[in-house]
Amino acid sequence: MEDPRTDGGGAAGQEAEAVAPAERVGRFVRDRVFPRESVLDGGGPAAAEALAVLRAEARAEGLWALPLPAELGGGGLSFAAYAELAEAEGASDHGPAALGSAPLLDVRMLDRYGRPGVREAYLKRLVAGEIRTCYAMTEPGVPGTDPFRTATRAERLPDGGWRVTGRKWFTSGAAGADLVTVMARTSGADGDREGLSLLLVPTGSAGFRVVRELPVLGVAGQYEIALDGVLVPADHLLGEPGEALAIAGERLLLGRTLRCLRWLGQAQRAFDLMCERAATHGGSRGPLADQQLVQAHVFDALLALRTTRPLVREAVALIAAGQDARTEVGLAKVAAARMLQQVADCAIQVHGAAGLGPDTPLPGLFRTGRAARILDGPDELHITAVARRVLRGHGRSA
Ligand SMILES: Cc1cc2nc3c(=O)[nH]c(=O)nc-3n(C[C@H](O)[C@H](O)[C@H](O)COP(=O)(O)OP(=O)(O)OC[C@H]3O[C@@H](n4cnc5c(N)ncnc54)[C@H](O)[C@@H]3O)c2cc1C
Repeated sequence: MEDPRTDGGGAAGQEAEAVAPAERVGRFVRDRVFPRESVLDGGGPAAAEALAVLRAEARAEGLWALPLPAELGGGGLSFAAYAELAEAEGASDHGPAALGSAPLLDVRMLDRYGRPGVREAYLKRLVAGEIRTCYAMTEPGVPGTDPFRTATRAERLPDGGWRVTGRKWFTSGAAGADLVTVMARTSGADGDREGLSLLLVPTGSAGFRVVRELPVLGVAGQYEIALDGVLVPADHLLGEPGEALAIAGERLLLGRTLRCLRWLGQAQRAFDLMCERAATHGGSRGPLADQQLVQAHVFDALLALRTTRPLVREAVALIAAGQDARTEVGLAKVAAARMLQQVADCAIQVHGAAGLGPDTPLPGLFRTGRAARILDGPDELHITAVARRVLRGHGRSA
């Protein structure tokens, strides 16, 4: 009988060991990744070196690329099995990169929509961590919430290839990426619902350029990029012309759910730090833990965590079952983003100035929580989309 934890591609040798594993993954992230976070956050050669060390350690421990397909060199865990350890892995923003699961969305997309040449050229190298990808949809001067307005254009050439021209921004990880998936208009006019396509662009191509870094609340990782007449081979089109929004929608549903799991892991970390601080610090009036207003922070943060986790689990279960999860992912995404921001804020408050300084991960967790309410679609977009879907079920035309 097929192992229900796998995608059916056959499990890696040590899977039984690897699935036990939220604990093993959690320990790896706590003991190896947390201590290197400040170096990793700093970027540059020191960060690259620290990441390489972590990746070698993850491979040596049989924890590499657990949710990626076994036939491509990954651990072969199904999405449902991976969801069991994604919280622990995501307790650090660097966990997925260190453990090789960061390319999950791209591997799935290329595996499903890439043409044979593209699959052959990139998939195994992506799973092995030899190349990196990024995803460029949002553009300067164009509302990211309105993809029909995408201004980047790809013009078809006589040999079937494409010439891509446009600008993107907030492209995570673009510096250092080998490939960028670009959403571009291949037919129709500005604002049309049809005519958007996805192209896989090698960043070494003439005309591709990283324009500038865009620090988010002071931290690196996002970039503005330019595509000045970049020539892209015909077989680097993903899916068919005009399929961008369908492919992106599928990717975003999974991506948002993964982010929710990781944000739960990060919020749990902030919560634990807050409780530790409350129990061990205080003044002449006794430990902070005895102060009712501190207890209120603990209660509010715990309530936010405990009420969000079931929403995320519901989204995971529907996606794993291949069912329509749009409403549940929308609810989970808004709840998890708010929750991380709230819990990190409570934890900072209980730490006082120390919570804003460099000695705890709390500023980073708060930053992630704030950005969470905008990236992958701002709260408002999900709120209105969920409400409209629900109201349509009640016969409203909203
Ligand atoms: C840290 C970070 C990483 C990112 N990574 C990537 C990436 O890798 N690739 C990529 O393509 N993009 C990325 N983005 C961009 C992100 O996806 C967009 O910022 C997001 O989708 C919103 O688009 P926008 O910024 O253009 O906001 P806009 O569309 O201009 O919206 C601005 C504001 O208008 C309001 N608004 C918009 N629509 C509605 C509505 N329907 N109802 C009510 N109010 C509304 C909201 O308050 C919203 O915040 C990233 C962003 C951040 C912050």
